Amino acid sequence: MRKECPRCGSGTNQMLNGKNRSGTQTCLCGKCKKSYTLEPKRRDYSEEVRTLAIKEYYAGASGRSVGRIHGMSKSNEYNWIKKTGQGVDKSKNGRGRI
Ligand SMILES: [Zn+2]
Repeated sequence: MRKECPRCGSGTNQMLNGKNRSGTQTCLCGKCKKSYTLEPKRRDYSEEVRTLAIKEYYAGASGRSVGRIHGMSKSNEYNWIKKTGQGVDKSKNGRGRI
């Protein structure tokens, strides 16, 4: 399994850091000291599709239309956006400005 820090994106110097209460392997980033979980991937969609869908969403497509393009449910889509777009506010993303 590829270990990559979710905070700084570093793929090197990632150390195993034991397991958490639910038995999920956690890792520690040697670069920024962030600890994170290494969860087994249980996704129906590939990382590429996710990334693309989220890009489209932030480019101005509605969650529903993005979902339709990729054949995924709207709630699925919104879950990804919530997880991936932490702190990103679509309304401040240049929309409505000249
Ligand atoms: Zn890191």
